[in-house]
Amino acid sequence: MPTRGAVQVPKTLRGTVVTHRRRCGKPNCRCADGELLHERVVLRYSEAGKTRFLTLPEDLIEPVRRATGRYRRERTRLEQEANAGLSALVASLAPTRHLTSGCAHMAWPHRDHLIWPRRRGL
Ligand SMILES: [Zn+2]
Repeated sequence: MPTRGAVQVPKTLRGTVVTHRRRCGKPNCRCADGELLHERVVLRYSEAGKTRFLTLPEDLIEPVRRATGRYRRERTRLEQEANAGLSALVASLAPTRHLTSGCAHMAWPHRDHLIWPRRRGL
């Protein structure tokens, strides 16, 4: 087996760690009866629309699993932050209706309303 240097697992990784179980096809192998299948743990990821697998050495399975989990949590957090940002921008640029004048205009002063609306929802 070729020696590989210490592999640095990146902090975040896209993909999912999954276990593949299969028969190798050799008739006398322990896997032939379908009970003791060969297992290999892979990082499943997509690249250019194709699903790819990267076989993980034993000592990298847990670090890689943690890095993919970190990515999923960060992605969820970033999505929530971006959605909250979008909602805030939509709310602040939405037309504000003045009950007194019946005038709907954007939330900045125009020539008929030279002061900012003090309260929201008016
Ligand atoms: Zn086998």
